[in-house]
Amino acid sequence: MPNHPINEYGVIILGGGCAGLSLARKLVQQHFSLPILILEQRSKYQHDRTWSGWFSKKQMQGLEAIPKRTYTSWSFTADLERVTHESKESAYLSIASEDFYADSLALLKQSPIVELQLNTSLQLRDVERLLTEKDEQTVVVDTIGISRNLQKHLLAEGVTQEPNPKQCIFEPSGLWQRFVGVTVSSNEPLFSPEGLDHAALMHDMQNTEHGFCFHYMLPLTQHSALVETTFFTQKPLNSIFLQQQSIAAAEHLFALSIDKKQVRNHELELTFTASEEGHLPMQACTEGFVKKARGSIIYGGITAGALRPSSGYAFAAIQDWANKVTLSVVAQEAPIFDTYRHYANITVYLDNIFLAVLERYPDMIPKMFLSMANILSAKQFALFMNHQAGLWIWLKVIWAMPKLPFIKAWWMSCRKIKNL
Ligand SMILES: Cc1cc2nc3c(=O)[nH]c(=O)nc-3n(C[C@H](O)[C@H](O)[C@H](O)COP(=O)(O)OP(=O)(O)OC[C@H]3O[C@@H](n4cnc5c(N)ncnc54)[C@H](O)[C@@H]3O)c2cc1C
Repeated sequence: MPNHPINEYGVIILGGGCAGLSLARKLVQQHFSLPILILEQRSKYQHDRTWSGWFSKKQMQGLEAIPKRTYTSWSFTADLERVTHESKESAYLSIASEDFYADSLALLKQSPIVELQLNTSLQLRDVERLLTEKDEQTVVVDTIGISRNLQKHLLAEGVTQEPNPKQCIFEPSGLWQRFVGVTVSSNEPLFSPEGLDHAALMHDMQNTEHGFCFHYMLPLTQHSALVETTFFTQKPLNSIFLQQQSIAAAEHLFALSIDKKQVRNHELELTFTASEEGHLPMQACTEGFVKKARGSIIYGGITAGALRPSSGYAFAAIQDWANKVTLSVVAQEAPIFDTYRHYANITVYLDNIFLAVLERYPDMIPKMFLSMANILSAKQFALFMNHQAGLWIWLKVIWAMPKLPFIKAWWMSCRKIKNL
């Protein structure tokens, strides 16, 4: 039970994950003065994912105290081709969720206005009750889609079961990004001190019978790394299969990269621990969500379209959203964000075309990513991934793509958008 009657809260946040906690942090940091209630189903916070990406200063504002790993170079490989980007100013950053949660909990605990209620698995009827009890001025922020009854349909995130096509609000036949990450630890150093700055973003890209696949590797310490095998797939790939793929990839990667002389007197021992699992829709669902928006509730998180369909990244868009919502709530403006779009229309539109090509021409995907990486500088690539690309960057990306498939996909995608 909350400490105050519902009508005494200034803000009620449904779901205390990335979006919910990011918003609560920013409200506290901006000295919001009314009580804030966060309703969260977990009983405790533990590491369940790593958020990486290219972030602007504004997106990182207020997150300075959270430990981050910085990668000043990143690479793409397919067959024998390799493209490497290097940039100190547009570095690839990585935040472990355990650090984000710990820092957020500490910050919120210090605040006399925040109440985080765990073990609260909300149902639609709880939210209906809450909406009738709340004060007119109370802002309700739904980061889990529950007020639109999207929850029972939504299948994304670290799920273990396979999607039920009939229940899924996302296109069941569309592409999904499916991965299981393992933390690899070793008795011998896996990286030189300089090697710690390099992330293998899309390693050994190839089209397989299960879909397009690549390996992702982030050094964590000299003796450990996060390794993930990711598939862009329409098939329901199970967790054990994915974990085996990631372990095999790690064994292969480190067997090749380690200087044999360095370990000649020792047996290289790798140990693996499960780290994270993702099942993310690669579909432009923002439109559908916005149509279902309801009254004076602010929507956020991936159930409100924060996930960029073509990349599966959401952390940057969630920070932008939290900044804007905080400004509006602190200024006591009307909650205008029920139709908030995390991505510009042009980004969604062009992403759609890109996805249609990925879906129809899987054999071309490795070449497409390599061409894109080749034509863009590291800084331009970072801006593109952080949905900050201007016209020039988009033109370069379009120029690098195979023309005929894109023209066909453009036509198909126009028809799809019309039908949304
Ligand atoms: C394994 C993984 C790795 C990812 N890596 C990246 C990355 O590197 N970069 C990036 O930009 N994005 C990444 N993403 C995508 C995205 O950033 C995350 O999914 C992000 O956590 C989404 O934030 P959210 O608030 O929408 O959802 P969540 O962070 O999942 O928060 C939702 C919260 O609501 C709670 N909840 C759910 N249902 C209820 C209920 N009925 N009642 C009460 N509480 C409820 C959940 O327990 C959870 O705490 C990743 C996603 C996954 C799954």
